[in-house]
Amino acid sequence: MEDLYDVTIIGGGTTGLYSAFYSGMRDMKTKVVEYQPSVGGKVSFFYPEKKVYDVGGLPGITGEDLVQNVTEQAESMEPTFVTGMKVASIEKREDGVFVLMTENGEEHFSKTVLIASGLGTFEMQPLKVKNSKRYDGKQIHYTIQNLEQYRDQKVVVVSQNRVGIDWSLALEGVAEEVHIVNRSDEFKAVYEQDVEKLESSSVRIHKEREINEVHGDDRMTGIVLDDGTVLDVDHILVYEGLQIDKSLYDEWGLETDKGRIPVTTDMGASIPGVFVAGDAAVYPSKTMLIGSGFNEAMAAVNSAAKYLDPKAKAQVYSTVIYKHKE
Ligand SMILES: Cc1cc2nc3c(=O)[nH]c(=O)nc-3n(C[C@H](O)[C@H](O)[C@H](O)COP(=O)(O)OP(=O)(O)OC[C@H]3O[C@@H](n4cnc5c(N)ncnc54)[C@H](O)[C@@H]3O)c2cc1C
Repeated sequence: MEDLYDVTIIGGGTTGLYSAFYSGMRDMKTKVVEYQPSVGGKVSFFYPEKKVYDVGGLPGITGEDLVQNVTEQAESMEPTFVTGMKVASIEKREDGVFVLMTENGEEHFSKTVLIASGLGTFEMQPLKVKNSKRYDGKQIHYTIQNLEQYRDQKVVVVSQNRVGIDWSLALEGVAEEVHIVNRSDEFKAVYEQDVEKLESSSVRIHKEREINEVHGDDRMTGIVLDDGTVLDVDHILVYEGLQIDKSLYDEWGLETDKGRIPVTTDMGASIPGVFVAGDAAVYPSKTMLIGSGFNEAMAAVNSAAKYLDPKAKAQVYSTVIYKHKE
């Protein structure tokens, strides 16, 4: 038997999460399919520790807390979450039901689809050092989730990017020792003042260097750089750029514009019943921001509700009079 949903949201970034909350507000049976093992999208991936100042009503909140809040908001509506699954194709059957096929061949059935999958999926470039993989997630990390984890620890940041400088400076004063290893002779995508701050900090800079070896058994204890320098190390943080696997929305049968999906004012895509919100959507004067994704999520969900029932109200007028699941 097909488990048919009113709306299936592709992508569990901030836009997809907020869409899941809002479709719950409209009493729609909702599913979220997310490729990563956990939700949060770009905010969790790129800047969980950074403070975000431009979301209405939140004068300053870390990326991590923002994701936690919007996840909690989504969960209050009890949608079905499917993580670690990548949607590979969408097909609209003759009976109007959408069949979403994941890369591993699973099928998901839905009356409408809300695309909130940004520009596609992304993974960090891995550290390419022999025998290092076994420390991934334990002592080798690709994002700072929790600064306190590094308190009084010896940390090596591997990066030639501003992200690496930001991490190093955030760790200064928390970690016992911070080194930054840059395989180039300069930092990329940086402002001059970032480099000046780094140079006047206590972070030890190793330019034109790479890690040649990692040492340790169950626990990594040290590394050797390509000039023979030996460093004791508790943690390595790596930011060597991203591998982006762009969503091929045109292969899903949708009209696209430079890889994104043009939408009408109701956030509808070129296939009736498919709606788009967040970074995946494009229209004149579009901004790619968390707040615009939230607003578009509301519009897309309202349009999906109207698509399902043309007599449905255009919007939820007040959350006070509306049933909210506790
Ligand atoms: C470094 C940086 C700093 C930023 N700072 C700010 C800021 O201060 N304030 C602000 O408002 N905005 C900021 N932004 C922009 C903001 O992060 C984005 O606008 C926002 O994250 C977009 O959210 P989204 O949910 O639309 O897309 P995403 O966050 O990209 O989420 C899309 C999700 O869909 C998943 N996905 C993709 N394809 C598939 C598939 N086929 N199947 C299943 N899942 C899939 C992805 O894994 C991902 O989790 C910043 C962006 C960056 C990169």
